[in-house]
Amino acid sequence: TEVENFPGFPEGIMGPDLMDKMQAQAERFGAEVLYDDVVSLDVDGPVKRVTLGSGAAHEAATIVYATGSAPRKLGLAGEARLSGHGVSYCATCDGFFFRERVIAVVGGGDSAIEEATFLTKFASKVYLIHRRDELRASKIMQQRAFHNEKIEFVWNSEVADILGDDAVTGVVLRSTLDGSTRELPLDGLFVAIGNDPRTHLVHGMLDLTAEGTVWVDGRSSRTSVPGVFAAGDVIDPTYRQAVTAAGSGTVAALDVEHYLAARADAVSSDELETVAAAGGA
Ligand code: NAP
Repeated sequence: TEVENFPGFPEGIMGPDLMDKMQAQAERFGAEVLYDDVVSLDVDGPVKRVTLGSGAAHEAATIVYATGSAPRKLGLAGEARLSGHGVSYCATCDGFFFRERVIAVVGGGDSAIEEATFLTKFASKVYLIHRRDELRASKIMQQRAFHNEKIEFVWNSEVADILGDDAVTGVVLRSTLDGSTRELPLDGLFVAIGNDPRTHLVHGMLDLTAEGTVWVDGRSSRTSVPGVFAAGDVIDPTYRQAVTAAGSGTVAALDVEHYLAARADAVSSDELETVAAAGGA
């Protein structure tokens, strides 16, 4: 959706357009982009190995791990069953299916407001269900939502249950003030209650922090394994903005460059020593 706060785009820019521009810029400098899932990593030793869903494997001297974060779940019984049948974590992916329907978004941060605002393009009505009586989202996002006639705020409420056998028909709301419950009929529920870093590929390989992000050394991108660097939301429990992630990518690129330069120096001094030891110096 619309990215409002990326420097250099005073009118805002759509996320996919920003990504296209970044890709074109990287390719101008020789980057080669492959689209596939990474299914496993081997980070031991000086040569790293990345195995893709297609079965192809790539070897490299360094890896930058920048897998971002994944949407947090409510943890309700009906959630997994109705996922894809009215329960969604991505308005841009699924909003289209809710044309002229009544839906709700759960959450009070920037993601929830962004999703709710976007969904008003399709839905006839969007409830925003939040467990407190004030939003965590930035002021500009809040103002936009408050002025949107299709959005109705449901304060001090949490989703206690999701109703429906084959598709969402509603939710049970529980008041966070007095515990009372009531049903709210709905055609869909969008969950936007935050994200968790995607570290599944590196469990047991890289050190993690208490917050679950990949541990890096100070302000660098160096992880606990030499030659493996990490950048973006997967190392950031705090800021998680597109621009901070982009800056973090720059840090990783510079760290990789220094690492490779130091390795090249070490290799050439090893070679010199070998040559000297052989009497050829
Ligand atoms: P967030 O800021 O952590 O907000 C999560 C929201 O969900 C909070 O309002 C929280 O309530 C609520 N919540 C958490 N767990 C819940 C649960 N189990 N049940 C009900 N509600 C729950 O996450 P986010 O909105 O995904 O944003 C993450 C970061 O990305 C932020 O730094 C944000 O600024 C950034 N972001 C920026 C943009 C943009 O600039 N365009 C867009 C999206 C995200 P409480 O408030 O009560 O804790």
